[in-house]
Amino acid sequence: MADNTVNAVGGCRCETNPVRYEYTQEPYEVHYCLCTDCTDVCGGAMAVIAVVPKDSFRITQAADKIRNFDTKPTCHRKFCGECGCHMYLHVDAFPDFELVHLPTLDRGVDAGGEPDRWVFTDSKHPMVAIPDDGLPRHPGWAGTARHG
Ligand SMILES: [Zn+2]
Ligand SMILES: [Zn+2]
Repeated sequence: MADNTVNAVGGCRCETNPVRYEYTQEPYEVHYCLCTDCTDVCGGAMAVIAVVPKDSFRITQAADKIRNFDTKPTCHRKFCGECGCHMYLHVDAFPDFELVHLPTLDRGVDAGGEPDRWVFTDSKHPMVAIPDDGLPRHPGWAGTARHG
């Protein structure tokens, strides 16, 4: 029997009563995102996004601390109102998924997938170099490489 279950747990950076989440099914896909919305809200050079089946994703602690910021009318970014950590986002175009900022998983946790492509490379910050990893690079959004 195919086992696509995982026990991926993560959360925000609060020392007291952190927001905690989990997902229990393998991500549909994982990608590196270089779009300015992801990078600006995270203060990072890129985002590593796990596209997780919505019905396997749960907030397990401190849901009342979660705040929302829409970087687009269709893109709802969820972060901790106390420490500011961006943990996941919901995109209206993908109603059956939550998009998890994979580095907010606890270190050492099995995310259930590996990045398979780069998206929004046209938005790459000039100080960032994409490693020669052989993965497909897409100037904007692109459909999944893994599942067709
Ligand atoms: Zn927090
Ligand atoms: Zn992005």
